[in-house]
Amino acid sequence: MKSWEENVRKVIPYTPGEQPDFPDMIKLNTNENPYPPAPGTLEKIRNMNPEQLRLYPAPGADSLVNALAGYYHLKKEEVFVGVGSDDVLAMAFLTFFQSGKPILFPDITYSFYDVWADLFRIPYECQPLDEQFCIRKEDYLKENGGIIFPNPNAPTGVEMPLADIEEIISGNPDVVVIVDEAYIDFGGTSARELIHKYENLLVVQTFSKSRSMAGMRIGYAFGCPRIIKYLNDVKYSFNSYTMNRPSLEIGLAALEDEEYFQETRQKIMHTRERMKKELAELGFRFADSKTNFLFVTHPEYDAKELFEALKEKHIFVRYFKKPRIDQYLRITIGTDEEMDTLLSFLRSYKK
Ligand code: PMP
Repeated sequence: MKSWEENVRKVIPYTPGEQPDFPDMIKLNTNENPYPPAPGTLEKIRNMNPEQLRLYPAPGADSLVNALAGYYHLKKEEVFVGVGSDDVLAMAFLTFFQSGKPILFPDITYSFYDVWADLFRIPYECQPLDEQFCIRKEDYLKENGGIIFPNPNAPTGVEMPLADIEEIISGNPDVVVIVDEAYIDFGGTSARELIHKYENLLVVQTFSKSRSMAGMRIGYAFGCPRIIKYLNDVKYSFNSYTMNRPSLEIGLAALEDEEYFQETRQKIMHTRERMKKELAELGFRFADSKTNFLFVTHPEYDAKELFEALKEKHIFVRYFKKPRIDQYLRITIGTDEEMDTLLSFLRSYKK
């Protein structure tokens, strides 16, 4: 190692899912939405005036903050917007997990949490999920420096009842509890309303999954005005102009088309329920999912082998080589047609 390298911040980075690019591929590995964004967003892109790009965007992302506040019946002071929920979550780690005490999150969860903790030198302790892949609320009622978990959890898909979430929030008045609701629009119950009851709650959501806009990078958070102010103070100390002009405009257009939003998320939930039946008939086992993916295992198949066999057919799913879950595959819910291709492969697999 060269001497200058001794003082470099060294981290083991997060590994995002593969982004393969084959014309015939079926991409079920990063929980993207198989349907296009709302038609109004395309129109917005076509009509965009490039002259606008000359100017910086509004640092507070006011237009989108106001629209989100209106949509969810909140005050604008209760809404924060960032570059995908990854950006919102990273800012939240930096802002709220400063005590030096370990923060708590599940052992099987979004694999970015330990990366941010390491990046920001935040100590953490993972709490094991139970055998059914459920979060045990008791594990989060001990001394800690903050709490974060997705609801529903990823990659398991399992939802925690709102009453249990409330117990965790009310049992931890001295720290901030972050509920990462990236997948909430696929049938879960949001903790959003609880921000009026608990100052220590931050609820994070995204346009990436249910609004088909992973490529646009729009995430947002709800909290009491105090918590949002702290988040904004850190954001403005890091990068004031996080949201670019096209994202702000296109995000607005997506929010305006409620009918399309309802239609596409219902379609995905419908396909998911059909897949639960079909996969169960093929002998797959999985916890009940309230997301746009299923986390499946099969008593007779090696998960890695199946993952590779699917990949050869250009069907991409996600495999995690990690303790407890290395015999599982996470399969994103695609269109019915994509699911049929997957099913016909699975029906003939190892016959
Ligand atoms: N939280 C969870 C649980 C996720 O699975 C993801 C998607 N990788 C994110 C947050 C981040 O999503 P985005 O940055 O696209 O909003």
